[in-house]
Parts: sequence; structure tokens; C-alpha cells
Amino acid sequence: MSVRIPPAAALILLSIVVAVAACVAQAAGDTPSRHSHVAKNAVIVVMDGVRCSEFLCDPKHEQVPRIATGIMPAGTAYTNFWDDGLTETNPGHATLVTGFHERIANDGSELPAHPTIFQLFRKATRADASAAWAVTSKDKLAVLGDSSDPGWKGRFTASVDAGKGGRGLGSGYREDKETFERALLILRRDHPRLMLVNFKGPDAAGHGGDWQAYLAAVRGADELVARLWELLRADPFYAGTTDLFVTNDHGRHCGAGFANHGDGCQCCRHIGLVATGPDFPKGEVDDVRREQIDIPATIAHVLGFGIPGAQGRVLPEVEGATRP
Ligand SMILES: [Zn+2]
Ligand SMILES: [Zn+2]
Repeated sequence: MSVRIPPAAALILLSIVVAVAACVAQAAGDTPSRHSHVAKNAVIVVMDGVRCSEFLCDPKHEQVPRIATGIMPAGTAYTNFWDDGLTETNPGHATLVTGFHERIANDGSELPAHPTIFQLFRKATRADASAAWAVTSKDKLAVLGDSSDPGWKGRFTASVDAGKGGRGLGSGYREDKETFERALLILRRDHPRLMLVNFKGPDAAGHGGDWQAYLAAVRGADELVARLWELLRADPFYAGTTDLFVTNDHGRHCGAGFANHGDGCQCCRHIGLVATGPDFPKGEVDDVRREQIDIPATIAHVLGFGIPGAQGRVLPEVEGATRP
């Protein structure tokens, strides 16, 4: 037996369902949202120390062919994307996980001054430590799991696997391949809902001053990023429910000065972002000026928690907003 619903009645029924779903979505998160976000998970991958000139500013994307062909058509490329803080590794990463321009030491001796999105997320969702992970090639990035804020230190901390053997500060840098394997193991075992992965290859090679080695390292990171995205798409826990942010902690000096970084020059500041997942339109290019603190703001909005006092703006693509 079949029931025939007249088209007009079906439309009314559909509007009621949509309206109810929107109300439920609005009530569910701290941050009011105009529509229900699809993503339940977010992953940030940092290609350490890649300038825009070897990333999105190269129209041929010669050093990032896998991202250009495998991820960009499925997401949005932000070509006018900036590090407006201290252009060093720990401050850049800390900014990405707090939403504030962090001015912490670059040697791993200082925790981020503000609570991290891992902590805010864990507090808001009551998720345990296995739901929030920082997996980094550089041992000094072990600081990303916690904050020096007296109200947050030691509370709702992220799980951390940093440096050689995942042993944290003092263990030394490890190869990105090991970081990739660790991230893979953790994704399959714990199914974290919020994760940051750091690939140090481009920065380490850049500091060596060998131009060809630096380019090869960017291509190496590009390959690992693409493989990570393929794995997320193939895992039923992550497929269709995960937003991926591919970005950089800082750039490097312009031209032949590529071996170093750390000042306020154009090329240390101009970095890139490619975002993909269910909340981002496919094959779009956004050339409006945006910056690192917009990434945590967007993740907080999508996953439904707030970052008190943060200045970052939610990327308008996740709301389908009209661009300025
Ligand atoms: Zn760096
Ligand atoms: Zn510079």
C-alpha cells in the first residue's frame, strides 16, 4: 500500500522538518549558527614554513601537485592568507590552536597563554583526552596540548605525540613519515574529533639553505597531506563529517633569503590555506584577506563551542555567506 501526499502538502511538511532541524542545530552549540554544520570533526595539517610562493601563490602549484589536484577541487583555496603574529614555529602553531596572536618562546619552554581549542572543545563536549590530539614532528610542539592560563593549566589537555618516539620536549625532531604513521595509528585507534598534525620537512630543509632540497620537502609534505585526506575520506568515522585545514605556521624571507624566517616581511607573513570537507564549497578560490586566527574561530563555530575574547572571524564559506 502506498500513501500519496499532494505536492503542496509535501512542501509544507518539508519546511516543517527543515525548520525543526535548524532549531535543534541552533540550540545544540554555544555559538548561534544559521544552519546545521555537517562536520563533526576537524583536522589541521601544518606544512611547516612554506611560503605562499611555493604554495598557492604559484599558479602552476608545481610543489603541491597532490593538494592542487586532489584537495583543491574538493574545497576552497584561500590565496590571501596571512600570519599576522610572530612568524616562528611555536607562536604560529599556538596561534592556530588558540585564536590569539601568541607571543610564546619558540623553543618549547612556554605553553600557549590562552586555552587551546582542544581544551575548549573537551570542556564543551565532555570528550575524553583521546578525542583531541596534537601529532607533531617537532618535539618542541609538545606545548600545544596545554595552556599557561591559570584557569586552564592541566585541565582538559590534549593528547600529544611530539618528536622522536612521541616522547615530547628534548626528544628531537623526527621524520614526517613517522609523524604520518603515528597520526594514522591514532586516527584508527582513537577516532579523535579534533587533531593537529605538523610536518616539519619544508622548514627543516629550508633552514639547510639548499633550494632544491626545500622544494623536494614541500613536495614530500604535499604527498603526506594528500594521503592523509584520502585516509580520512576512506574511514567511515570521518568520511563526509570532517573539515580539513591545510595551512602553514609561517612563511620564509623573500627570494634567496628562503633559509630563514621570523620577521615581519611580506614572505614570512604570506602563507596559505586550503579547506575542504562538508562545510566548504568545492573548487572555490577566496582572495579576501584572511588570517591564522580565522581557522580556530571557524573550527569553534563548526564544532559548537566558543573562544571567549578571540578576534578571529568565521570563514564565510562555512555559512554560505555573501562575500564582501
Ligand atoms: Zn615553523
Ligand atoms: Zn622575513
